[in-house]
Amino acid sequence: MKAVYTFADLQSWETVTADEKLPLRLAVLGDPIAHSASPPMHNAALSACGLEMAYCRLHIHPEELAAALHLLPSKGFVGVNCTIPHKGGALAIVDEADTHARLAGSVNTIRIGKDGLLEGFSTDGLGLERAVSEQLGVELSTMRVLVLGAGGGAGQAVSMHCANADVRHLTLINRTVEKLHPLQEAIAEIYPREQISVAAWNDAALAKALDQSDLVVNCSSLGMKPEDPSPIPASLIAPRHLLFDTIYTADHTPLMRAAESAGARSANGLTMLLYQGEVAFEIWFQRPAPLDVMREALFAQARGK
Ligand code: NAP
Repeated sequence: MKAVYTFADLQSWETVTADEKLPLRLAVLGDPIAHSASPPMHNAALSACGLEMAYCRLHIHPEELAAALHLLPSKGFVGVNCTIPHKGGALAIVDEADTHARLAGSVNTIRIGKDGLLEGFSTDGLGLERAVSEQLGVELSTMRVLVLGAGGGAGQAVSMHCANADVRHLTLINRTVEKLHPLQEAIAEIYPREQISVAAWNDAALAKALDQSDLVVNCSSLGMKPEDPSPIPASLIAPRHLLFDTIYTADHTPLMRAAESAGARSANGLTMLLYQGEVAFEIWFQRPAPLDVMREALFAQARGK
């Protein structure tokens, strides 16, 4: 299997994948995509369940997304995941979307349904909720939550999920603050408006937001590059804060390093990816996912094995 396939490969899928031992019927679509840790996790699950197919990476540019998704049924796909920057675009393309996807305004899991219909789902919120419970030992509903990068795909999904989970207070911060206004209106339809705060991304707003929050969820991509600064300076973090960084490309992200120096507990996004994988597998195959096998494969990949 190639590390990454392209849109041109997808157009000639039968020829390009003719020599594969297993048919490639699942994929993650993104731009860039080479970093994705999903294939080893899903391939271990498929193998453990005796499902004779494989999961690969597809590098799809935004202008190719609609055509790529519409090709999937005729190429024999069971489903796909969508990641940066396709989650919002995918919602506009799918034929149907579940409640989580509609609330989130994005789709990160697609199942090819009857008659080749594209069925869209969002697993970001559920993945986050299960990961926070496992990694930080708290239930979302008991928390006052600050979502950093709330205007992005993951940020909107997580913010909506927090509102749906009836968290005690919800603060939304985004570099481009204008993106938060439609989100705030959508959240206010399912959650008390007086429990929502919205702010631009600056130190004064961060200090105020941290003061009124217990759990910080970083949904911005700040921290993906090793040289990135922490999204929150350590000086603003108190030992009582819990910090969940959705970034999973490093064991210790810049936010986790800041948390550590402030004496606060933190976790990276690897467990969120695991639980999202569990939900996606169940959507595609309508059967329980082999979570332990997926965990082992995902964490081995993350350790560079
Ligand atoms: P996205 O839709 O492109 O959103 C990116 C977000 O990051 C936006 O809010 C953007 O702000 C913000 N941002 C980017 N650069 C920034 C900077 N220098 N300073 C401040 N904010 C900045 O991407 P996404 O799909 O939501 O993914 C975002 C992050 O979540 C990624 O790191 C991804 O790995 C992670 N994630 C993890 C999981 C998991 O399972 N662990 C799942 C989904 C996503 P603007 O709106 O101002 O551009």
